Amino acid sequence: MHLDQKVSLKTHHTFGMEVEARYFVEAKTHTEVLTLLNYRHMIHMPILFLGGGSNILFTRSFPGIVIKINSKGIELKEDYDDHVVVTAEAGENWDDFVQYCVDRGWAGIENLSLIPGKVGAAPIQNIGAYGVEVSDVIQSVQVIEIETGKQKRLTNAECQFGYRDSIFKNALKGKVIILNVTFKLQKVSDLPDDKVFGSYHFRLDYGDIRGELEQMAVTIPVISDVREAICQIRRRKLPDPAIAGNAGSFFKNPVIEKKLLISLQERFPAMPFYQQVPEKLVSSDLVKIPAAWLIEQCGWKGYRIHDAGVHPGQPLVLVNYGTATGTDILELANQIMDSVVQKFGIQLEPEVNVIS
Ligand SMILES: Cc1cc2nc3c(=O)[nH]c(=O)nc-3n(C[C@H](O)[C@H](O)[C@H](O)COP(=O)(O)OP(=O)(O)OC[C@H]3O[C@@H](n4cnc5c(N)ncnc54)[C@H](O)[C@@H]3O)c2cc1C
Repeated sequence: MHLDQKVSLKTHHTFGMEVEARYFVEAKTHTEVLTLLNYRHMIHMPILFLGGGSNILFTRSFPGIVIKINSKGIELKEDYDDHVVVTAEAGENWDDFVQYCVDRGWAGIENLSLIPGKVGAAPIQNIGAYGVEVSDVIQSVQVIEIETGKQKRLTNAECQFGYRDSIFKNALKGKVIILNVTFKLQKVSDLPDDKVFGSYHFRLDYGDIRGELEQMAVTIPVISDVREAICQIRRRKLPDPAIAGNAGSFFKNPVIEKKLLISLQERFPAMPFYQQVPEKLVSSDLVKIPAAWLIEQCGWKGYRIHDAGVHPGQPLVLVNYGTATGTDILELANQIMDSVVQKFGIQLEPEVNVIS
């Protein structure tokens, strides 16, 4: 293990701001994580665990130790006729893991293709896309308690997953490090008309997945087709952080009461909303409003001040066009949130972790 001083974090986070870590170290094994935790007790300084840095906004240089979790390994734990149980280490690249599973015909995360970041961060905000949340397939999450160094395995229920939410953003925030995640995935065939594993249904009714498959001339999709369709849609719709720094959706889609929606629709008849998917329904009185629509209605789509902006194609994404600071992005985010409250009375909530 190598503890470096004054390390630039520019390439370690997707917003691409020029900020530094006072100390920076990569932990490649569980033992290294434990060693670093002991070391932390001796030096008393702030500590930040980092995955791929794709859900973080640094508003300044970090005055303590940044520990990049880089443990690798994927292990098939159980192999049944119709499903597998597989564990991936926290430092595995999320999309490489998706590809690994798709290649083996293990289904459940193909709709989460091309989401940046590491496996270890996936449960934290319960990553989701195209009608699927990672909590649908997580069996358990192994963590280490920062205070005691003790390891624990949390079941899916204990993780208290919600929409872009989990216990790791609430009661366990800053208290544990995620070491690995165990998934239960369904086996599917790579032959379109093979009925052997016929009980699994791909989720194709969200966004334009079916349209994309049609364009690909696929009538009965296999798992690799679904992944390919999702990748193509995402490449077209989302800005590439390598070209314009961003952290994906900056805000969550607000969940509001149906009666508030009805009264808002008197003034804004075109206001879109989603019913939550039945199996994830917390309450039939709640609906989700696309934050992108609210932001666009407030006139922010494509807005730019110096190098901080709102993406012209996807208003949920705030962009660093080059020299914007974290504070510039945060100020823009606050202005957007204020204007949405003023116009609609709806409070947006950031999805991105702001490090200040
Ligand atoms: C272009 C783009 C598109 C995106 N699309 C989506 C999308 O469709 N759906 C979606 O849900 N998200 C999306 N995101 C957000 C992001 O990819 C996810 O939130 C991802 O899971 C973050 O992983 P990461 O490893 O980069 O986490 P980081 O940004 O490194 O960390 C995020 C938080 O988790 C903590 N953390 C990281 N690893 C650990 C660990 N092992 N133990 C304890 N704490 C840890 C960090 O301290 C930080 O607070 C997108 C981001 C980008 C840039």
